[in-house]
Amino acid sequence: MSKIAICPGSFDPITKGHLNIIRRSAKIFDKVIVVVMSNYRKTGSSLFSVEERVELIRRCTFDLANVEVDSYMGLLAEYARQKNADVIIKGLRAVSDFEDEFQQALANKSLNPDVETVFMAASAENMFLSSSVIKQICQLGGDVTPFLPPEVSSEIISKLRQQ
Ligand code: ADP
Repeated sequence: MSKIAICPGSFDPITKGHLNIIRRSAKIFDKVIVVVMSNYRKTGSSLFSVEERVELIRRCTFDLANVEVDSYMGLLAEYARQKNADVIIKGLRAVSDFEDEFQQALANKSLNPDVETVFMAASAENMFLSSSVIKQICQLGGDVTPFLPPEVSSEIISKLRQQ
């Protein structure tokens, strides 16, 4: 039976850290659905709209035949049910990610017992990467190109110039 995994997040914007988790997941599972959660635990306004984030992820994953990109506003456990997903993949950067992710995994398990949360360790070179760190560096004029897929670097620079 084919195994379906979901990679949820805010992806505002997608970084090399996210992409690394998506690519590794695509090697393990038959189908990977990357879903931009528009209400995903983040407060404050986002830099990219949900549609823009979906489009950027599509461009970065076009070579991965078993990866789909979607967006959803609502409960992840419910989305997983609708998609018949077996697994929710979460990338873990540091111990600091763990407590919150563990709590969410337990909540999702109780809302949808059919879905398992699997934690995937961040690769060493991406340990410190988060969308918010990238936005801060970029806003202060730093070079973010080493941390972002090339499709995203030019977009974030022009987006921040418009502000
Ligand atoms: P961010 O913290 O960068 O805003 P998201 O909230 O979009 O990221 O996170 C989506 C998922 O990607 C989460 O499971 C998060 O732990 C994971 N993730 C984010 N950045 C990295 C990274 N650099 N390496 C591995 N996983 C990551």
